[in-house]
Amino acid sequence: MMQRKEILQNVSKYDLQRIAIASICSHSSLQIFYGAKMEGFKTIGICIKDKLPYYQAFPEASPEMFIVVDDYKEVLEDRVQKRLLENNSIVIAHGSFVEYVGVKPLLDSFYVPMYGNRNVLEWEADREKQLEWFEKAGLRYPKVFKEPSEIDRYAFVKVYGARGGKGYFKAKNSEEYHSKMNEKLREGVIEKSDRPFIQEFIAGSRYYPHYFYTEIKPRGLKLESGGLELLSVDRRIEPIDEVYRGLPDLIPDYLDYTVSGNQPVVLRESLIPEVLSTGAKLVKASIELFPPGILGPFCIEMVFNPNKGFIVFEVSARIVAGTNLYPNGSPYTPYIFKEPMSTGRRIALNIKEAIIEGELHRLFY
Ligand code: AMP
Repeated sequence: MMQRKEILQNVSKYDLQRIAIASICSHSSLQIFYGAKMEGFKTIGICIKDKLPYYQAFPEASPEMFIVVDDYKEVLEDRVQKRLLENNSIVIAHGSFVEYVGVKPLLDSFYVPMYGNRNVLEWEADREKQLEWFEKAGLRYPKVFKEPSEIDRYAFVKVYGARGGKGYFKAKNSEEYHSKMNEKLREGVIEKSDRPFIQEFIAGSRYYPHYFYTEIKPRGLKLESGGLELLSVDRRIEPIDEVYRGLPDLIPDYLDYTVSGNQPVVLRESLIPEVLSTGAKLVKASIELFPPGILGPFCIEMVFNPNKGFIVFEVSARIVAGTNLYPNGSPYTPYIFKEPMSTGRRIALNIKEAIIEGELHRLFY
């Protein structure tokens, strides 16, 4: 594992007047670059050759400099890492960045300063660890069934290998579990080697609030140390949302949880305190479990059940694609900032304020 000391040594050689914000051209990079430019940073996009024209098609969000690669795994090569260092780069790792490069390779051999606490990657990548985190935070999460024989109510079956929700299914008892599982295996949607994770199915409305936590120039909800901002909320678009259109002869493709987009959402105002306190509990537990905790943006995936309140089912410990809805801010950001503020810009502002306060080292763990 790459030592923090080595990363901080690299930061200490940086020209603080010429910091660049860098990312892989995918996921939420246009928002990240756009926000970084608003805060006056240079921007660097690591881009696959074929995709270059598409990233040049948005001049206000297009990075000033491109590092062209054939495969995103090349970010680990010295050629790319050295170029990033020479350009005083701070890398923002979004979801695709982590997925394309891999958690372990990133932790083992990426020596370019990467914004945030790297230790969180291990906590979010492992569902059991996430549960331990929720437990510590005192949050409500769906009951977990260790074996199909334990299923005693509607269960939701997630498969580790099934990306983006494909292959997920519902089962009300172990017979239904086995018959659906066998069908998915036969169809090849699920592989024998994929590990199923069975949890209680939560009925209700889904919300994906986007938070931001920092101790540097804190804003938002005051915590023991630092501040927690509610920057925006979205809702993911999945085929299952429109399942009624397939009735009465249900077409199986509707029974699918693959995310294909995001919709903007505002919360009923009386629910905001619970959404903020849920985020605050998760931050507090993260500080205890992997100090200094979750830094910068994160998202908690939750379901609101009218009888039970909010139940959380997953955390994404970095910028999520749902924030792409708000390059100029959400309905909530004007209440915190005088200027349009996206999550991408908030990251850049955090870096800028850390530089001004002489605290840049506190953004890298
Ligand atoms: P995930 O991979 O955990 O982000 O889940 C993908 C999608 O599956 C979510 O956006 C929800 O629509 C659905 N989902 C996940 N967990 C549950 C659950 N416990 N109960 C009901 N729906 C769920």
